[in-house]
Amino acid sequence: MKKLIIAEKPSVAKNIAEALNIKSRSDGYLEGDNYIVTWVFGHLLQLYDVVDYDEKLKGWRLENFPFIPSEFQYKIKSKNNERGVIDAGAQKQVNTIKNLVLRSDVDSVISATDYDREGQVIADEIFLYLSIQKPIFRLLLNEWTPDEVLKGLDCVCLNSEMQSMQDAGFGRQIADWLIGINLTSVATVKYKNSNNSKVLNIGRVLLPTLKIIYDRDKEIESFESSKYYKLISFNKTEKGEIIEATYAEDDNEKFEDIAILQAIENEIKGKSVIVFDKQVERKKEYPPYLFNLSNLQGYVTSKYKGWTSDKVLKVAQELYEKKLITYPRTASSVLDESLTEKVNKVLDILKKGLPYESEIQFSTSKRIFDSSKVESHSAIIPTYIMPGKITPDEDAVYQAVKNRFIMQFLPVAESEETKLSMRVLDSSIKGEFVSKGKVQIAEGWKIVEKITTKETILPLVEQDEKLEITKSEIGEVVRKPPKAHSEKTLLRVMETCGKNFEDDQSEEMMISILTGFSIGTPATRAETIKKLRDVGYIESKGKNLVCTELGIMLVETFPVKELFDLEYTGKLEKTLSDIERKKFNKQDFLDLIVEFTKKSVSDIKNDIVFGSKIVLPDTVEIIGKCPECGNPIIETEKAFGCSNWKNGCKFTIWKNDKFIESFGKKINADVVRILLEKGRVGFRGLLSKKGNKFSAYFKYVKDTEKGNYSWSMEFIDENKSN
Ligand SMILES: [Zn+2]
Repeated sequence: MKKLIIAEKPSVAKNIAEALNIKSRSDGYLEGDNYIVTWVFGHLLQLYDVVDYDEKLKGWRLENFPFIPSEFQYKIKSKNNERGVIDAGAQKQVNTIKNLVLRSDVDSVISATDYDREGQVIADEIFLYLSIQKPIFRLLLNEWTPDEVLKGLDCVCLNSEMQSMQDAGFGRQIADWLIGINLTSVATVKYKNSNNSKVLNIGRVLLPTLKIIYDRDKEIESFESSKYYKLISFNKTEKGEIIEATYAEDDNEKFEDIAILQAIENEIKGKSVIVFDKQVERKKEYPPYLFNLSNLQGYVTSKYKGWTSDKVLKVAQELYEKKLITYPRTASSVLDESLTEKVNKVLDILKKGLPYESEIQFSTSKRIFDSSKVESHSAIIPTYIMPGKITPDEDAVYQAVKNRFIMQFLPVAESEETKLSMRVLDSSIKGEFVSKGKVQIAEGWKIVEKITTKETILPLVEQDEKLEITKSEIGEVVRKPPKAHSEKTLLRVMETCGKNFEDDQSEEMMISILTGFSIGTPATRAETIKKLRDVGYIESKGKNLVCTELGIMLVETFPVKELFDLEYTGKLEKTLSDIERKKFNKQDFLDLIVEFTKKSVSDIKNDIVFGSKIVLPDTVEIIGKCPECGNPIIETEKAFGCSNWKNGCKFTIWKNDKFIESFGKKINADVVRILLEKGRVGFRGLLSKKGNKFSAYFKYVKDTEKGNYSWSMEFIDENKSN
């Protein structure tokens, strides 16, 4: 009997076949004595479109939404950019897989898609679609080298053990469908006007990311330029060398008021300083941690021109499929402790021939191996396979990964920092002049990328030495506005969900990232940034990312505010992680999403289009202010209504209102005026059905569910005086 292996990509299937020494190739699969290896190419299936559930729902109409299918179904995916046209290649491959599964000499199936949520779903949706009855196993690997493939096939687990990962994957897919399809359709129809006929893409991860960029744009816009001053003295040693020093009071050397410094400058003329304190400190500098995906993307996009994080992920994916690096879509920056032996072997192979080979030494330091900071995948490292022919792009990413790996096993870099504190002699000046120097003592790991540190070498001066002030000057420094986001800084904010960590190499941050409280996952962030650009919400200016007009309008006027709330989105993302960790139930999560979708659709439907301000000619009498949109209420032939009706405001009070008429009263301008101003209007002499007279207040109340208005009545007890 044979086992059928399904890989996520043809290239990975090839790697597996090579490891198993399978050479016979057929149409859509490779076959050996014990194994058949076939493949998918990412998702071959997709969730039904709305119209697939019901032909009548064709075309986007507001009344069709919210649309919540009672059961989600899959179909063969459509061709790229051609809705409704079946992708023939996908169809063919699904048939191939189906026929292979049904073969009588196949006794079981092994899912060998990527070891992550998306990989799990890519295979599981096919198993579901084909309702496979044979036993299904799961191969979980972090790299596709022959050694690992053979080892992995010896210890496959039951695919059913991956239930929680499947739940998180399907949960993610369905949540994004519900929010994306419903809100995009309703928003596009609702806000379509002459200025904007584009599809308004609304998504769970898209909008909070847009908000991050928007906030930075606003910060820059509202930045008020300011300046400060510094006083610098030039002090001559006994040997005639000059030491530059900056004036400081209580460790502060920035002065808003130039007059303070001018007074001091006058006072120090012709005087001397004495070195009253000399501190020399040796500092250790550790290499930056191994790469997780965000850090790799940040590193490459800021080092090379024209790279996007999306491109970095694509290239890293190629390297992974070529067996040269480990699984790239990871959030961890350290390695699992079980990998020490393997890593030692990789290091032995990769260090050969490097100019600093003799300095490289394997280590099991906690900065490299720490299982407590690994969540399913370790940091990205090279494998034991040396690259053959690879493209320049692949080489750029490979070198970055390899160098970062090698650095960990070189000595720490060390520098010596000197701080001289000087007091002005024969004066009452309360501050001091400070001079700092830094010298690299040991280059250590910095040799790998030839990182040079700015050195300020101070002349040798001892404590209590006197120096003569030969010159001084006041420098003006203009404070700079914050910088626009680059892909590197944006990825960091998405990763930490807006939390600021002073040290971006801190353990606290590494642990925070692993909780899953973030915007998107390592696998999806690059795609989100790309999509923001593609749909026209942001644009690139050099390395800067800034909002477009459309993006700004969306943030400022789109009524579903939760989608711009980092905290809200972070929680949703964390809930998905919690499902994967069996701490949250998929159905509970989907119930929340359904509720959110319904409420959001209703909010959009009831929204008054994009804050329009109506200006009326002076001749028109204004009765009051619209409670919906704040625009003037005016009288028409049959009603009192909102002048903003063209933009969708439907607030109306009918003159021939049946309810009011049933009490023998009529709606007129005075009634509406009082109602709008006070929120209620009192009537005396109302007639009950039995013919009794009574008094009551009337309110015009909005049904928050349906969005329409109706009257409510409150009796006035005539015996009580108000
Ligand atoms: Zn209105």
